[in-house]
Amino acid sequence: MTLDPQDWAAVRATGHRMVDDMLHWQQTVRERAPWQPVPEEVKRRIDEPVPYAGMPLDQVYDAFLRDVLPYPTGNIHPRFWGWVMGTGSPTAMLAEMLAAGMNAHLAGYDQSASLIEKQVVAWLAQLMGFPADASGLLVSGGTAANLNGLLAARVAKAGWDIREEGLHAGPPLVVYGSCETHSWAGKACETMGMGRKAFRKVAVDGHYRLDLAACRAAILADLAEGRRPIAIIGNAGTVNTAAVDDLPAIRALADEFGLWFHVDGAFGSLAAWSASRALVAGQDLADSIAFDLHKWGYLPYEVGVVLTRDAGAQLAAFQSAAGSAAYLQSSSAGISADTTYFSDRGIQLSRGFRALKVWMAMKEQGVGRIGAMIQLNIDQAHYLARRVEAADHLELLAPVAMNIVCFRYVPGPATDAALNALNQAILTELQVRGVAVPSQTMLEGRFAIRVCVTNHRSDWADFDALTDAVLAIGAELAAAHQLA
Ligand SMILES: *Cc1c(COP(=O)(O)O)cnc(C)c1O
Repeated sequence: MTLDPQDWAAVRATGHRMVDDMLHWQQTVRERAPWQPVPEEVKRRIDEPVPYAGMPLDQVYDAFLRDVLPYPTGNIHPRFWGWVMGTGSPTAMLAEMLAAGMNAHLAGYDQSASLIEKQVVAWLAQLMGFPADASGLLVSGGTAANLNGLLAARVAKAGWDIREEGLHAGPPLVVYGSCETHSWAGKACETMGMGRKAFRKVAVDGHYRLDLAACRAAILADLAEGRRPIAIIGNAGTVNTAAVDDLPAIRALADEFGLWFHVDGAFGSLAAWSASRALVAGQDLADSIAFDLHKWGYLPYEVGVVLTRDAGAQLAAFQSAAGSAAYLQSSSAGISADTTYFSDRGIQLSRGFRALKVWMAMKEQGVGRIGAMIQLNIDQAHYLARRVEAADHLELLAPVAMNIVCFRYVPGPATDAALNALNQAILTELQVRGVAVPSQTMLEGRFAIRVCVTNHRSDWADFDALTDAVLAIGAELAAAHQLA
């Protein structure tokens, strides 16, 4: 009895077909709509009983081709600019297959895969301006990476052995960041048992950057009331408008109060690889930084990264207490001989070989070319902003700091409420008609069509097509909304 194929030749043939089909599917992505809804009949077919009896791989693959492949989120499409999603790459897809084939266990161990993750972390530390002896870990994404950074901050700055004693052994801990900080921060404080209120949402300036004076005042108020500040979060690219906080000033403020400085650079920190690296100057001053490679690194899900300046601080937060787990002790020789233990740098014990797609894509594409692509996306965002400003009925709703453009259609004098409803309808039509996929946000009560460019397949003409479509659909719907 085994789960290996009865007929290896047949599986090999199907496997070759899969590789051919997926490469073809990626190559021809532009010919399809970015997104279409999953039809009811497909939903019905997927909803089936537990398959106790198996079936041949080709038949399962046919079901995939019919019911799964045609209905993706659409983020690999050249006109997908919603939320902050990545496009992936054929190289990385193939690397995922190789990694799954090896099925290496990346807790650590004396194996090639561990060397690859160590190497990739060292490259990433260098690219982000972190010291050569910084620690780092590949994780599932930005949320996990940011949480890892805050956990290290908490162990370093709580002032008591919080891992052993827990939260109740000291005063309430608090963390600061701008009100534009991504929702991970509140969730992290919940997860850490501190409650969402422990995340102090500080006001922003006119460019959506942390108001440093307000942050300072909040720290002083918390200290006066007996709470213990532990960290300030700086944003290198906020999710609404790609705003970058004044990172060197946050470093100085953190130092003034002895706090940890964590940077959330989920997508924005990747600007450091481009000619626009000055946009994120100061992120290299952080105690920890979190970023995703499945967004602006153009790699497939999932892969996020956390780097910690002081390697000891990451170990202090995650290493199992000595002698606590006899089954995990390392030895002087054999597979557990002393080596890098990634499981001592984060929460996960069993970990996959995420590093392989990072390593292969960086080697094949070259960091120079990836950086040029990031720069092109920044240039495309500015190009779109100029088109918006030049068009009669389009209005830019926020300064373009990096790669995000927020705008709306304005047919003439109207209330924000009316414009919000109209622009929501325009956005829905863009998605449903298969034109393009921007997403939305609210900026000072105004509904914005939000375009985030982290896409290596977009052409200049795609942005022309977007503005043309917004103007055309806008004119069409304005009549229905009685705004024409
Ligand atoms: C996407 C994002 C996150 C969360 O990252 P995930 O990979 O989705 O977990 C955090 N911060 C910012 C600014 C983001 O854009």
